[in-house]
Amino acid sequence: MEISEANMDSFGIEVILPEEGKTAPRCPHGPTLLFEKVDNGGNKGRRFYACSACRDRKDCGFFQWEDEKVSKARMLAREAEMLSKRPRFTQQECCSRFVQFASLPFIEKKFCEDCQILLLPAEHSAHSAHRTTAVTAAQLRRPSILLCPLDNKKSNAQYLFTDRSAHFLLDTLVGLGYKKVLCVGTPRLQELIKLRNLEPMKSLLLDIDFRYAQFYSQDEFCHYNMFNHHFFGGEASRAVLDAFLTEADGEQVVMVADPPFGGLVKPLANSFSLISQTWKKLRNSGDSNIDIPIIWIFPYFFEPRILECLPALTMLDYQVDYDNHPLYKHGKTGRRQSPVRLFTNILPKQVVLPREEGYRFCSMCQRYVCSLNKHCTKCNLCPSKDGREWKHCSACGKCVKPSWSHCTSCGRCALPDHPCRQGDGGNGCFSCGSLEHQRKACPLRDMRRKNSLGPKAKSLGKKASPYLAKPGAKKKSGVANRAKKRAANAL
Ligand code: SAH
Ligand code: ZN
Ligand code: ZN
Ligand code: ZN
Ligand code: ZN
Repeated sequence: MEISEANMDSFGIEVILPEEGKTAPRCPHGPTLLFEKVDNGGNKGRRFYACSACRDRKDCGFFQWEDEKVSKARMLAREAEMLSKRPRFTQQECCSRFVQFASLPFIEKKFCEDCQILLLPAEHSAHSAHRTTAVTAAQLRRPSILLCPLDNKKSNAQYLFTDRSAHFLLDTLVGLGYKKVLCVGTPRLQELIKLRNLEPMKSLLLDIDFRYAQFYSQDEFCHYNMFNHHFFGGEASRAVLDAFLTEADGEQVVMVADPPFGGLVKPLANSFSLISQTWKKLRNSGDSNIDIPIIWIFPYFFEPRILECLPALTMLDYQVDYDNHPLYKHGKTGRRQSPVRLFTNILPKQVVLPREEGYRFCSMCQRYVCSLNKHCTKCNLCPSKDGREWKHCSACGKCVKPSWSHCTSCGRCALPDHPCRQGDGGNGCFSCGSLEHQRKACPLRDMRRKNSLGPKAKSLGKKASPYLAKPGAKKKSGVANRAKKRAANAL
């Protein structure tokens, strides 16, 4: 079973952020995170450490009770595993290989698709049985196309921006005058910045996908885990970020993050806050209330969760879409509308959403909204979260989805065919806690399926794992109920 934001609440698991001075055991993905199981009565259970980055235990099986004594043998086995999981080249090696590669004549420029590496001439024979392709200079500048997106085999499934979304983001940042873009899990944005040659705009990519180290210099890429703020390259790598965050005259920095959607909001917010703190320290402008400008790209149904962690952010109506995500394409062309939005501390009215894509400015809300998102004078806001026109329910005292109607026995609005159980709050999605859909229709379900290796039944099978609620233990914890209430209030 995977620990993801979408099912944490239903299994009553919470992340405990690391206290200062306390060191967590490490897995190949850096310091692990401390989790705590909370039972139905809200009682705290035994705490355990698990991998920060992998939501499926098949990808990283690290597990340790907080109070567990670990044997010498197990420690050694762990160290051996960490060594075996290290990338085949160091970042420095990657850089010198890239320089060599770039100077090769075209016929000798080859990329091994099986190993996902650029090959130097001396290595061609060793990869002769593999699928290899020629690499043009243009392809070398588009690693996000050359590399195959990580998919269901890894917990970090990669969804790449469409040109439409990538250009929109970059145009917006250019328009706002930013000169440095910190790309956290946004390789395609970094690529576009270099491609468009927007001197003097600079970018730095922080990503866990080490394959990207092959294409960038050491001050353009850091091997980084955004769930525990871990730099695989140690102090040298941290220094690269520090240098990047240091603003010489007028070089304003902005950060754009597009984490995997199954990711846990709390540790992400914590890492982003740590980046902001570093930025503040380096700025020495005295104003400690100002945070680094940030755009966090995430599905709209996480809005309550994100605002709980980072209250300074506002969700914008812009729909971000992806090339390789079959379901989440823009507007009418795709099968469904993308649920992915921008969360930002940039003043909403400054982020101009394109009129030709159906956005308009709401002068009351002072932000750009979807054309169908009509301002409600009773709520005094543009209420729609999903791009459809919502309607006001006077009994509920707020706007609701167009498909909902007021149910007198539940005392609130719901889908007409909702399982009507008075005041129970028992309907909605068991998986993500949202009241707007049932589990079967959960928009996250598809993504999460892609994120785990095989059929659910398999991973649920053998090992008794603390990640799991007991089969049949349907009762939701206090945490789950709280989450449902939050979701309900927000929608
Ligand atoms: N839309 C983006 C890609 C988003 S996919 C674009 O087009 O540029 C999520 C990205 O986050 C991937 O690049 C993936 O490698 C990275 N990622 C996944 N888990 C991560 C982690 N724990 N730490 C840092 N980066 C991670
Ligand atoms: Zn791990
Ligand atoms: Zn209203
Ligand atoms: Zn109602
Ligand atoms: Zn759901």
